[in-house]
Amino acid sequence: MLLPEPKSESETRTRPIVVQKYGGSSVADVEKLGSVADRVVATRRAGYDVVVVVSAMGKTTDALLELAHQACRASASGGTPGAIEPPRRELDMLVSTGERVAMALLSIAIQARGLSAISFTGSQCGIITNDRHFDARIIEVRPHRIEDELARGMVVIVAGYQGMSYKREITTLGRGGSDTTAVALAAALQAERCEIYSDVDGVYSADPRAVPDAHHLPELDYATLQHMAESGAKVLCAQAVEWARRAGVAVYARSSFDPVGGPARETLVRKLGPGEEPRARAVTADRAVVLARFREDAGGRALPAAIEKIARAGLRVVHLRQAGDAVELVLSASAAPDWSETRAELGKLCRELALEEGLGLVSVVGGGMADGPEPLRRLRRALGHAAVEPRLCLASALCASAVVDAARLVEAQRALHAEFVG
Ligand code: ASP
Ligand code: MG
Repeated sequence: MLLPEPKSESETRTRPIVVQKYGGSSVADVEKLGSVADRVVATRRAGYDVVVVVSAMGKTTDALLELAHQACRASASGGTPGAIEPPRRELDMLVSTGERVAMALLSIAIQARGLSAISFTGSQCGIITNDRHFDARIIEVRPHRIEDELARGMVVIVAGYQGMSYKREITTLGRGGSDTTAVALAAALQAERCEIYSDVDGVYSADPRAVPDAHHLPELDYATLQHMAESGAKVLCAQAVEWARRAGVAVYARSSFDPVGGPARETLVRKLGPGEEPRARAVTADRAVVLARFREDAGGRALPAAIEKIARAGLRVVHLRQAGDAVELVLSASAAPDWSETRAELGKLCRELALEEGLGLVSVVGGGMADGPEPLRRLRRALGHAAVEPRLCLASALCASAVVDAARLVEAQRALHAEFVG
């Protein structure tokens, strides 16, 4: 007798999947974890299969990194001086525990509310990454264990920010990487949507702590949000937005402190319709920018080697210009754990290296920024009126920026918000 063909996952699936991600401040203590558990239970009871991705509790990741640096300093003072920077493999072993604590506690809290739940580490749920420790990229997601547990009626809790390299090593995805875990899982599971919970109710036209006039943005397209994230906005990690864009995952940014089920504001991040132009505008700031200038050597080897070192240290190249043998780089160090060693290496590698630190980048992101020279002119004028002197101005299709003194960033953001967003 022939057995019937096994039904595929999509044929047997009756409940839509929602992926919810909770950031560090939403799970900062056991009481807050309890409110998260309440929201998860309510979502499950509303008829969804729920996958929850958690960050480490509160400032746990920072605290663990500080411990690592303390351990490093201790060894450097006694006898043979050790490395200045802790080995990145061990950093991954260390910081990945933060999310593990949060996932287990949340699973316990959900089970205490009468629902079945199970927690998984990143490697257990098939998040495969490259081997770049501390800043790994997801290559593939094989969420079979999650699918099996959902089919069994479980709520699945996943430790964000981590995966396993193809060499079977534990890796982490770069600071803020739990967002990426959530969106990548939503894509792999074909979830109906991905909800990102934090302590703010969505995305604003500027950081409200710096710009009191900043307003809430109810809707945004992927490209605008990706530029915002890359220019320093702390809303959603840039790679997460890139995953969302590629897979077309609808992302809702919400506050976990709003009442469950109550009327609340949110930002929907979605694809633009045909012929639709990006409408949202926002001002962003990056507080840790470095301007590097040096001379390329005759063999053209210094620049590629420098870029390699910069990427390894977790710095991001915001802008690169080479004219003859003169190289100019604008770098963001805001995601770099510590780049003192790299700084010294660049000094040896690059001829006539001049580094300027203590700089910031202020950007206007959104539609219309590449309409002729006018946006840049207005940017310079607005900064001038606020007595902020730009070291360098940059413009691209969706973004105009200025490198300024970090101490003048707040004034710069206010001036550009008044000029471009209003
Ligand atoms: N806990 C990690 C961090 O603080 C990852 C995250 O929060 O998304 O960067
Ligand atoms: Mg965190």
